[in-house]
Amino acid sequence: MRAMVWFRVDLRVSDNTALCTAAALATRGVVGLFVVDPTNWRRHDWAPVKVDFVLRSVTALRDELARLKIPLLVRTAAHHRDAPGVVLAAARDAGCDAVVFGREYELHETARDERVETLCAEARVLCRRVHDVCAVNPGEVLTQSETPYTVFTPFKRQWISEVERRGGVVLHATPAVQAETGVASEPLPTAADVGFASSVPAALWPAGERAAQSRLAEFCRAAIAGYKERRNFPGEAGTSKLSPHLAVGTISPRQCVLAAQAANGGALASTREGPTHWISEVVWREFYKHILFHFPRVCRGRAFKPATEAIAWSDDAGAFEAWKAGRTGVPIVDAAMRALVVEGWMHNRLRMITAMYLTKDLLIDWRLGERWFMQNLIDGDLSQNNGGWQWSASTGTDAAPYFRIFNPVTQSERFDPNGVFIRRWVPELADLHDEHVHDPSTLPGLLRSVVNYPHPIVDRAGVKDRVLAAFKGLGGG
Ligand SMILES: Cc1cc2nc3c(=O)[nH]c(=O)nc-3n(C[C@H](O)[C@H](O)[C@H](O)COP(=O)(O)OP(=O)(O)OC[C@H]3O[C@@H](n4cnc5c(N)ncnc54)[C@H](O)[C@@H]3O)c2cc1C
Repeated sequence: MRAMVWFRVDLRVSDNTALCTAAALATRGVVGLFVVDPTNWRRHDWAPVKVDFVLRSVTALRDELARLKIPLLVRTAAHHRDAPGVVLAAARDAGCDAVVFGREYELHETARDERVETLCAEARVLCRRVHDVCAVNPGEVLTQSETPYTVFTPFKRQWISEVERRGGVVLHATPAVQAETGVASEPLPTAADVGFASSVPAALWPAGERAAQSRLAEFCRAAIAGYKERRNFPGEAGTSKLSPHLAVGTISPRQCVLAAQAANGGALASTREGPTHWISEVVWREFYKHILFHFPRVCRGRAFKPATEAIAWSDDAGAFEAWKAGRTGVPIVDAAMRALVVEGWMHNRLRMITAMYLTKDLLIDWRLGERWFMQNLIDGDLSQNNGGWQWSASTGTDAAPYFRIFNPVTQSERFDPNGVFIRRWVPELADLHDEHVHDPSTLPGLLRSVVNYPHPIVDRAGVKDRVLAAFKGLGGG
């Protein structure tokens, strides 16, 4: 048997479930496949920076596979509808009797993969879909009555006890060198070649599994111990920045959990607050993956709490444009939004502040913000982005209660106390004293007029009342 591995969101050779499954089946070698699918990427709002990161990661993967004598075919789907046929044709070209791939849980991807299964069955090619993107697979963390959890803390408790019951997280061994296939690897296009030219410098985001492993090792060496104290300060390098790697699978969550456990004296939860807290964040990622698996309606842009569909969102296009451009007059929001466009990434505290600001202060539909984030994030991932947006908008699972509204100025004073992050991204405010940098509208009149920075576009005094009125009587808060 010769087996083909279709790589999608598992762009690595270590701890790769599909690759190991294929190697176990194969007697006549393993062949890799990557499908370039620009129309699918466009309909899902993939950011150019994400496409660039993916393609650079696939290039690194091709080199790793070559060491195992596994060639990588690179095929393009002219339209996303064609992808299943492209996969089967590639398998045939390479003389493969089996196709193996890791599962993606989103609706479109599930439909596509079911079509691949049908085509394979018709062609008498073995097709195996395997779970890979979580340390504990969806469907394996359930309540006593076998229903999915919709609240994080009990989910996490059950996730930990499930891992402990299994004796810990286990990695797949990297397969041995495979039998020669005589199949040659194929060249990869660049992001610009397929219409996704990115303005974010590639050097900011080294790609591939070696880059991911060294980032994890460095984070565990230098920052994980202080993670709990430093994780909320965007001006500091307090978090791992592994989210792009987790999104495209250049690292697995199992590898992350094991590394954090090693920094935690072997435990998943203990008194070492840094690693314990970091593992918790990785479990948040699993929580949102499980939510999407059990409630695929979140892929359809529906609110998790159906009652909140009735909210009368504002259609203030000017305010939305100001938010996107970083011109709201709230420095922490503007700094974060400008950083997003330039670097393709945003710190978690800032994602919460900017999402709350859009959905509460401006009362603009979370779906618009979700889309803008997706169009700009290197780590854009439907389950995580949707989970984060619905949390912030108070429409989701275990969401922020609608009456607990972040004050962005207070958040700024607390988490960017010296305005380090603001000054970096809003240079107009670089020379202001700390007492004014979070809210330049407090400057005395004359000074205010010489600072070339917008007045706040919304009057905060009325925010709470407007939000309470919008959510009043919905029954979903
Ligand atoms: C509105 C909004 C949108 C978001 N969109 C995305 C997205 O598209 N893709 C994405 O990967 N994350 C998203 N997040 C979650 C989170 O902001 C990022 O995962 C985090 O900022 C990544 O930085 P890091 O790798 O340094 O995280 P670390 O703090 O080092 O955490 C390690 C890993 O844990 C996971 N994680 C951390 N925080 C969260 C969280 N709050 N929710 C879920 N998982 C978490 C991530 O996989 C992260 O890489 C979003 C959050 C919000 C509030």
